[in-house]
Amino acid sequence: MSEFIPPAKPIIGDEEREAVDRVLRSGMVAQGPEVAAFEREFGAHFVQGRPTVAVNSGTAGLHLGLLASGVGAGDEVIVPSFTFAATGNSVALTGASPVFADIEADTFTLDPASVEAAITARTKGIMPVHLYGHPALMRELEAIAQKHGLMLFEDAAQAHGASLDGRPVGTFGSFGMFSLYPTKNMTSGEGGMITAADDTIARNARLLRNQGMERQYENEVVGFNARMTDIHASIGRVQLTKVDGWTRARQENAAFLDASLRGVVVPPVREGAVHVYHQYTVRVPEDRDGFVTALREEHQVGSGVYYPIPNHRLPSLAPYAPGLELPETERAAGEVVSLPVHPSLSQGDLDRIVAAVNAVAGAGA
Ligand SMILES: *Cc1c(COP(=O)(O)O)cnc(C)c1O
Repeated sequence: MSEFIPPAKPIIGDEEREAVDRVLRSGMVAQGPEVAAFEREFGAHFVQGRPTVAVNSGTAGLHLGLLASGVGAGDEVIVPSFTFAATGNSVALTGASPVFADIEADTFTLDPASVEAAITARTKGIMPVHLYGHPALMRELEAIAQKHGLMLFEDAAQAHGASLDGRPVGTFGSFGMFSLYPTKNMTSGEGGMITAADDTIARNARLLRNQGMERQYENEVVGFNARMTDIHASIGRVQLTKVDGWTRARQENAAFLDASLRGVVVPPVREGAVHVYHQYTVRVPEDRDGFVTALREEHQVGSGVYYPIPNHRLPSLAPYAPGLELPETERAAGEVVSLPVHPSLSQGDLDRIVAAVNAVAGAGA
């Protein structure tokens, strides 16, 4: 019996453990110098030195980024329905309404035509998701935002290091957000990083993160406690020194799968795009659920379905989208499977994944 190949595997090493130990021994564990250093280093590494604000989750990052950009009650923000629920949730939590648009078939990211059709007098902004680590169609969305006087926000939760025509994701919108949850391309345990287009949005986000205070006990606005701890930041700082190597490993694993898989639709990469393969997602047009079960039970290969239920069909978010039909979103939800692509895979694992997929997909190549 072969060992099970998990669909994701966070990598935590001795350096991370030593960093945490150093912070614990210092006795200063809440937000402090480690967080400040992590923000600077993350900004320099991923977003060309944009101002960055570390928070305690990616979801908090989206929520605070939207509030810091002036989104609130009465506004609408256009988002994909084919994403993790945090995208639409964060809009709803500001008091604004998420308006769901469809995706394009190749890379599962927002379809600009569907976005344009969803614009109303109340639309405040557009928030694409760089889903699975592939950049959304930012040029087209930028043009639409400009034409209609809208803001652009980026859910880059899955896309650390992705870029379009040499420009990193997280530098297009008024703000971008990167998640640091354990299964993402790098982690701080839990956490999120807001990348802001200017100092005003960054300052607003910092205020909201800490009870509306810049100076102790001089609360300027009503805010949250969404602070990251120095313990978490110290993990993130170490991961930042390793993430580029992990991304290369993901890309190499993806290239091998692209060249070897038969009987499934492998994920295309748009011209000018750098894909960082948070997920390696194929389409299985027939009996996707049977395919997933067979991989697991006959071949001990794990996989994931992201996401089986479109957000506009969830009990929580459906009230924002009565009667809405999004054909490409529905089709994707029924066909996608994400195969293991993480940096811990050995060549033996990759060979087993290929043999399993090709056997189950029935191509027998
Ligand atoms: C993970 C994720 C989030 C939320 O990040 P958390 O750190 O889990 O709060 C938001 N959007 C997308 C697309 C994600 O994958």
